[in-house]
Amino acid sequence: MAGSKTDDNALMYLPLGGAGEIGMNCYLYGYGPRKQRKWLMVDLGLTFPGPSEPGVDVILPDLTFIAEQSEACVGIVLTHAHEDHFGAVIDLWPSLEVPIYATPFTATLLKAKLAEYGRGLEIPIHEVELNSRFDIGPFNVEMITVAHSIPEPNALCIRTPETTVLHTGDWKLDPDPVAGEPTNISRLKEIGEEGVDVLVCDSTNVFRDGVSPSEAEIAKSLSEVIGGCDGRVAVTTFASNVARMKSIAEAANANDRRLVVAGRAMQRMIGVAVETGYLPKGFTFLDQDDYGYQPRDKVLLLCTGSQGESRAAVARIAADTHPHITLTAGDTMVFSSRTIPGNEKSVGAVLNSLAGQGINLITDNEALVHVTGHPRREELKQIYDWVKPKLLVPMHGEMRHLREHVRFAEANGIAKGMLVRNGDLAQLSGNKPRVIDDFPTGRIFRDGRLMLGAQDRSVSDRRKLSHVGICVVSVVVSPKGDILIDPDLVLDGIPEFNKEGKAIDDLAYTAVDGALESIPKTRRKNVETIEKAVSRAARNAIADAWGKKPICKVMVSVI
Ligand SMILES: [Zn+2]
Ligand SMILES: [Zn+2]
Repeated sequence: MAGSKTDDNALMYLPLGGAGEIGMNCYLYGYGPRKQRKWLMVDLGLTFPGPSEPGVDVILPDLTFIAEQSEACVGIVLTHAHEDHFGAVIDLWPSLEVPIYATPFTATLLKAKLAEYGRGLEIPIHEVELNSRFDIGPFNVEMITVAHSIPEPNALCIRTPETTVLHTGDWKLDPDPVAGEPTNISRLKEIGEEGVDVLVCDSTNVFRDGVSPSEAEIAKSLSEVIGGCDGRVAVTTFASNVARMKSIAEAANANDRRLVVAGRAMQRMIGVAVETGYLPKGFTFLDQDDYGYQPRDKVLLLCTGSQGESRAAVARIAADTHPHITLTAGDTMVFSSRTIPGNEKSVGAVLNSLAGQGINLITDNEALVHVTGHPRREELKQIYDWVKPKLLVPMHGEMRHLREHVRFAEANGIAKGMLVRNGDLAQLSGNKPRVIDDFPTGRIFRDGRLMLGAQDRSVSDRRKLSHVGICVVSVVVSPKGDILIDPDLVLDGIPEFNKEGKAIDDLAYTAVDGALESIPKTRRKNVETIEKAVSRAARNAIADAWGKKPICKVMVSVI
């Protein structure tokens, strides 16, 4: 960093997602004087809803900050094709309409998704070569191959005339990643020699000591595990883990089993991986229709559903509702995956159901059948040593990971670590790197065909409904306040009987009827008065019987 430089030339950084969570990655880099500043977006990913977002399909970052000045956004670079890095592109690109840059595998997968879900959307996708270097607006971007758990993960070296940042994306060190090249260590070292101001680095495994095992070790172990099985064997993994699919296919060959692939996501991924050369041209597998015709000890099923997702193959096999696939006592299910935090209950339910049927279970607790795609502590120390940044900014982590990463970096030779959270605007270079401002950020829910802002009440209403149920009352009165028809009640999600065996809807009905009668006729002309009295009566009656107050809606018709 030259001392003469003014802050107008400093590099800015503003994460809109991913800095405070593992998921929904979206990082902005800014350059230029404030009013003419240009922004480069790195990744545009999504995250999946938890129990507090019932019914929501996916969660996307709120791009308001950049969408309001979309002409200042020069493009989006995608580091790799995991959903938490590129899953929001199709939904959110229309609010930016900027070119997208990605290496061939990511670009091909994005095009395949666009053809399937894009509804005619035309997105300019620039395919860039691995380890290539190009300009986007005032930013010079270099793609640097790293290893991870999908083909073609890239770290980005982002340069402006004054500043060099290495944005790692998701990475690990792996001398033999099975599909694709290992991390380009020599280039990282060269860039380190040239001088790196800031390392913006993956924090996922900052609490884990040592070095993560290689994908090749997993391949060997998987083959041994499968070789030790008698009956049918099913293996579930993430559909995006092409290297793992390759290892599983090779394990099938080595153990004289035919590979059957179930699940559209997995078949689409195989198609893209063959097209881009990460799986051999002759990669063959049987469709799930053929599963039932294979001898028990000659079949290896590869399927989706490692997170216990209710509609995916594993959960349907566990519930014995899959149209083509069954497992029975003595067969084996291998979970070549890790349980993403938040999915423990659904995965647990599937494991229990399979265990109850006498199916043998192998998870990464029992054997070396899965490995992380993120750097552990010794790998972090290695990259610090090669890149030698002046400043470390942690990303791809929850708050506890980010804080620990700052501490860990400062304890391991980096002069300064800086915590930057979603919405913080940080000046990364110039006179005094620091967080200088913050902007509102948030989450957008994709809910059916709609996008809902975080302020939208429907999701919190839904959450409440799921806890207490609802009582709907219909009342019909004349303009003079006569009750024309007996009130009607519908209770949903509320127990039928109280402790004494009395029907709760009868108790509510009696209360509503009494409340209506007790309102003087002249005051029954006021709809609001009726609504309030009836709602209070119904809720109190149900609360007496049940111990919980439901949501209550009263519809008053005046005819
Ligand atoms: Zn990833
Ligand atoms: Zn990620």
